[in-house]
Amino acid sequence: MALSNLQYNTILREYDETRDRNRRILEKRRAAIYSELDGYKALDEAVASTSMEYGRKLMGGDSGALSDLHFALATLKDSKLQLLKAGGYPEDYLAPVYDCPDCQDTGYIDGRKCHCFKQRMITMLYEQSGIKDYIEENNFDTLSEEFYEGQDLENFRAAVSSCHEFINNFPEGAPNLFLYGTVGTGKSFLSGCVAKELMDKGYSVVYFSAIQLFDLLSNFAYSKKDKDSLYNPYEDLYNCDLVIIDDLGTEIANNFVTSKLFQCLNERMLRGKSTIISSNLALEELKEFYSDRIFSRITAKFTFRKLTGPDVRLLIKRKLNTRK
Ligand SMILES: [Zn+2]
Repeated sequence: MALSNLQYNTILREYDETRDRNRRILEKRRAAIYSELDGYKALDEAVASTSMEYGRKLMGGDSGALSDLHFALATLKDSKLQLLKAGGYPEDYLAPVYDCPDCQDTGYIDGRKCHCFKQRMITMLYEQSGIKDYIEENNFDTLSEEFYEGQDLENFRAAVSSCHEFINNFPEGAPNLFLYGTVGTGKSFLSGCVAKELMDKGYSVVYFSAIQLFDLLSNFAYSKKDKDSLYNPYEDLYNCDLVIIDDLGTEIANNFVTSKLFQCLNERMLRGKSTIISSNLALEELKEFYSDRIFSRITAKFTFRKLTGPDVRLLIKRKLNTRK
């Protein structure tokens, strides 16, 4: 699971804030109890002074002091509990407050990330992926074969099974998938399916439309501003567990930016990272667009799946309209 340093530090800061918030809740509760329950504060003070007194005895060589101390503290604790109960408060009202009792809001248990830390990472990865909303509605749970038949259906099923294979081989097998075919045949939908499965497992996924990506790459390359002040797309492009590039071939690309993109794909392959690309263009068109040699070399390790059929998005729209 790849988190940038910034993201990691953000999560740690959230834990600090959680602990601060919970500490304040406890202080407020204690103040309320002190003012409402007569004698409670005195009992708390007695705990402190008793501990100190016995501490002195222990250091003075009184070996029986420790068991006396335990007994004295237990008595005080019990008196406090009785007071709380009599006042109508739950027994644990003044116990430390934790969002996650398992790790006591530190994020770690015995040096390993707590389940709550992992959950925070997933949430963060979802938010930065740019497809959070999209995959809420477009995922394997909402997959339907309704609009496909004949050869189109066979193509769709083959693509779906390639998506499952992709997920099964991820990340060790470093799978890559290239979905192409006409508009509305389910390419983005299937990318979304894969993205959701992997994000649910805690992998980082970044989504770019080709236009977005080419804008980012050219802005970064041509901007006169200090590079450190710009969003550096390469960090995500190189390190993210999965990159999805949607609608390749719709961008108006110059040679420089195209070569930058293919450099990225190459770099990801060298690092054993997976990529999913979708395009509305036919393979022949893509080869023409990017030059046969470059395109074939870069996509040598991709599984290609062609999708065909009517524009499903249009059909769904029509169906929703007739229902109205
Ligand atoms: Zn935890």
